[in-house]
Amino acid sequence: MSQVMEYQMFINGQWTSGHAGEKMEVINPCTQEVVATVPRATKQDVDDALGYARETFESGVWSNKPIEERSAVLMNAAMLAVANKDKLAYLESITSGATIRRTSTVDAAEVGATLLLSAMIAKELPLVEHSFFSPPWVAPMHTFWRREPIGVCAGITPWNFPLILAIFKIAPALVMGNSLVMKPASITPVTTLELGKLLYDAGVPAGVFNVITGPGSAVGNYMAGHPEVDKIAFTGSTAVGKSIAHLAADSIKRTTLELGGKSPILVLDDADMEVATNMCLLAFLFHSGQVCESGTRLLVPRHLQDELVERMIEKIKKMIIGDQMDIATDLGPIASNEQLNTIMDYVRIGKEEGAQLAYGGSRLTQGIYEKGFFFEPTIFINCNNRMTHAREEIFGPVQCVIPYDDEEEAIAIANDSLYGLGGGICSKNVARAQRIAGRLRTGTVWINTWHVLRPDAPFGGYKQSGYGRECCYHSLLAYSEVKHICQDLTPDGNDKLMNVLIGSNK
Ligand code: NDP
Repeated sequence: MSQVMEYQMFINGQWTSGHAGEKMEVINPCTQEVVATVPRATKQDVDDALGYARETFESGVWSNKPIEERSAVLMNAAMLAVANKDKLAYLESITSGATIRRTSTVDAAEVGATLLLSAMIAKELPLVEHSFFSPPWVAPMHTFWRREPIGVCAGITPWNFPLILAIFKIAPALVMGNSLVMKPASITPVTTLELGKLLYDAGVPAGVFNVITGPGSAVGNYMAGHPEVDKIAFTGSTAVGKSIAHLAADSIKRTTLELGGKSPILVLDDADMEVATNMCLLAFLFHSGQVCESGTRLLVPRHLQDELVERMIEKIKKMIIGDQMDIATDLGPIASNEQLNTIMDYVRIGKEEGAQLAYGGSRLTQGIYEKGFFFEPTIFINCNNRMTHAREEIFGPVQCVIPYDDEEEAIAIANDSLYGLGGGICSKNVARAQRIAGRLRTGTVWINTWHVLRPDAPFGGYKQSGYGRECCYHSLLAYSEVKHICQDLTPDGNDKLMNVLIGSNK
């Protein structure tokens, strides 16, 4: 076994083991070996981190810097992310179970690209705008409004894409001049800690960006209600998102929530079956299905169900399930034993409710799978949209195939969900696909592809999948306040409104 990496929290530009000095273990889900330890933060550590964030915000050391200077620092950070991509990819994979093939090509690159794009977009954002209108009932005025940072922000992230989901919050928060405290998921905290050092080395002043590690139910919950937090950005389950929204409401914190999903794939009767097969596999097997916007309700014309499922199974049989650190692996382990149990529960419920198992359905336990949390790709056919596994988020490699008879029925089933994160259409007819895209009540619609999250396009959910958008200029707006400044230009300050108030004769 290789040496266990001992991490500390990153607070005020320094590594710290926290007030209690307690540790949490981080394991490799393929072997259950402990690969790292991180401090278990206490509320006092949260107070410290938020205190430094507040202090730096008020001092103006970052918040008052011209946006061009903050952008330049983010660009440095983008370069450092690229320079450190192998290390980031290794740490991300070994702790989250993501295949090294993916993290080394997608995740590290997306960190760099998100930093770079946020910096570039920020420089183009109209930070100050003037009115073109002069209302006749007021005196001549100079009126303009400008964007300002919100203040102290807190970010809480889940375990499935620790790097990408952290940078979606870090890049816009910092470029807009806020201070930020991040709390990553307890099972995958190390790459967010690495980002702390990386941003500091890039030129983000001490105290502006901090990372604490600890249980969400204790320190995350505390952060969400903390009076020092002006904005909270959360990615995770809808259940925890609701509790954060309640806590944040007490002090009217600005809030962005990226929550769960149960995204529908509409395969149309004119789809190219090879394209449909690849799209449907990508939709539910990427990161072994542990993706919020996974396509997990596959709506297919009844007469095409058998052919599509047979094609999918043929390709699944050729996929390599195994050690995520092996470049040949297509599907790695499930991130935790807890999540594996959740998946097994939903598969059991699916069978009990009468869904027909076409493939998979079991944990893999023999040979190379003996110590890890491995689960077979699983396909249920002849499902209906009222079944539990069709309504609730499983967060695993489980597909639920629902046959339909006509287009209107398919659209109605697609929209019949509490969630509204992703959706997709497979069709050779571009106009038809775009028309249907307009009718799906989801934040993203993919046509003939899936899982494309781009830093240059907004991402977020409708309905109980959350509110607010990450990425693109939308996230920059979400990390800023707008202040209107209105100045009377008349020499004697004799505003017409004042005359209305007291009457011109007095
Ligand atoms: P959780 O909601 O359980 O946890 C997410 C984060 O919140 C973790 O950092 C966790 O800390 C923390 N947390 C847990 N309880 C609380 C609490 N009471 N108050 C404050 N923070 C808390 O989700 P998972 O980590 O299990 O991730 C899976 C879920 O996330 C899925 O439902 C998925 O759909 C959703 N998700 C949504 C995405 C989106 O963009 N819409 C993207 C990725 C995931 P700790 O780890 O210590 O428990």
